[in-house]
Amino acid sequence: MPRKQHFETTAIHAGQEFDPSTGSIIPPIYQTSTFVQDGIGGFRGGYEYARGGNPTRTSLETLLAALEGGKHAFSFSSGLAAEDALLRAALEPGDHVVLGNDVYGGTHRLIDKIHSKSGILNDTVEMMDLHAVQKAVVPGKTKILWLETPSNPLMKISDIGELAEIGHAAGAIVVVDNTFASPYLQKPLSLAADVVVHSTTKYLGGHSDVLGGAVVLNDAELASKVGFQQFAAGAVSGPMDAWLTVRGIKTLAVRMDRHSANAQAIAEHLVGHPALDRIYYPGLESHPGHELAKTQMSGFGGMISLGLKAGPKAARKFAESTKVFQLAESLGGVESLIGYPSEMTHASVKGTALEVPDNIIRLSVGIENVDDLIDDLDRALPRR
Ligand SMILES: *Cc1c(COP(=O)(O)O)cnc(C)c1O
Repeated sequence: MPRKQHFETTAIHAGQEFDPSTGSIIPPIYQTSTFVQDGIGGFRGGYEYARGGNPTRTSLETLLAALEGGKHAFSFSSGLAAEDALLRAALEPGDHVVLGNDVYGGTHRLIDKIHSKSGILNDTVEMMDLHAVQKAVVPGKTKILWLETPSNPLMKISDIGELAEIGHAAGAIVVVDNTFASPYLQKPLSLAADVVVHSTTKYLGGHSDVLGGAVVLNDAELASKVGFQQFAAGAVSGPMDAWLTVRGIKTLAVRMDRHSANAQAIAEHLVGHPALDRIYYPGLESHPGHELAKTQMSGFGGMISLGLKAGPKAARKFAESTKVFQLAESLGGVESLIGYPSEMTHASVKGTALEVPDNIIRLSVGIENVDDLIDDLDRALPRR
């Protein structure tokens, strides 16, 4: 048996065979909507119409499945489009979903505002509290247990293996949004989760130049339902978007190493800063999820949140004062971003149980030189 290929190698080669007709080392971008047939039904390579399949999308899906260690992957035009397809595929009217209480705000909105109209019920729960999760799932009724670890923006770490056990005992599938960690740092399917979803817009794409999403799973029956949603509702990734995402993924490993190293250095530098009452970064030993993160992740990632002692006004001012960290939504790109979740990424959950503290700012630490990043934060933070 050959030894299992390492992640970095797979990230560059899975689904990326050179073009046999020209030798082009990079598979071409199949910028086409349809495929000529050799007589009716005579498809070359199985391709018929690009909503159903396009070789550039296939190359991305092959790569995503290989990286997450799943049998099937489907790519979509955005993370939320991927989540929507999964929810439609897995749920029937009357089914119940249990969500972490700080999942991505758009995920909660999608289920609570849109799928609720088809009779889908939901409850949110603290995923670090296994007893609370046990109480929240309704055997036979709860069909999805949906979690995000590390969570956004409070960087909570929840135990994928334990939660999978609780979900499975109740007859639910366990879905992990792996956007923050990326498959380089965490592989939920190997920890007994059933489905991984991604906003590939973030670390996988990695360059803030493309939107996308993915669903990765092993179960053939659910996979065929997700594939049907992708085809029948049509929120597919276009060839250019799929290609850009593949191009980004090739450097995922080196980028994640640098994101993690920079974030670790920044978090350590800020420990004890008089303007901060809390640093939310799982790489710090003082973080309540540090030990658990060490067991289910191979690094701590590039996301840090900071709580400002002086409250929301100081937090807003800080977010508007950095120069290298640019004020913008999103995360996971090579450039550093700063955001004020309560009015930006998490505005949609204001006034709900998912509301985030208003003294928090969130950093997506990029791969610039860390000294420049530290200087920038030091200059923008209040002195006390
Ligand atoms: C951005 C994000 C999403 C949504 O993805 P889009 O590509 O913006 O639709 C879902 N989950 C997490 C954790 C995200 O950060």
